[in-house]
Amino acid sequence: MATKLVIAKGPVQWPAACAMCGVREDLVGAEVKIDRITSIRPGLTGDLSIGSQVTRLNYPVCRKHARGLRLATLLIQDGGGIGMLRTASYLFGPLTILMLLASAKRAIFGSHAANGAEMPLAFALMFAVFLAMFVAVLLAYPRVPLRLSGKVGETLTLVFRNRDFAAAFARLNPGKVRNQA
Ligand SMILES: [Zn+2]
Repeated sequence: MATKLVIAKGPVQWPAACAMCGVREDLVGAEVKIDRITSIRPGLTGDLSIGSQVTRLNYPVCRKHARGLRLATLLIQDGGGIGMLRTASYLFGPLTILMLLASAKRAIFGSHAANGAEMPLAFALMFAVFLAMFVAVLLAYPRVPLRLSGKVGETLTLVFRNRDFAAAFARLNPGKVRNQA
């Protein structure tokens, strides 16, 4: 089970251990970030100025768990265009699986009606991309030891996969933890 901690923004101390497995040697840094648009203002010259705030945290993982972590973190991070793509993949990924099952059924049992028209190639490619993304996102979640799931005012919500690491983090930052869920 994951542990969720709401902490105050600002510098934090990290336990000297891998956030995934807890080993204490061969550690490297991994980055997690959250992006939020804070303001959109029309400028005097007719342009738009978009203010966004990026919060980054750099936490330790062992070399083994650092492998592929950057991509996995990118796939599941909040904010930015990736969130929209992920939502689309949640919709189209399962749909693609259903369509593949339907066409497999047609292939096995034969088509009874005249509705067995083939899908245009461009659509098939698009669905294939969403299916790949859907599978990649599902595989990415268990590989990421720490997620930043929210930023409200001056607080951040951290989701730890490893409970012991979360507990060690809370002990190291007694003044920062606001809430534990
Ligand atoms: Zn590890």
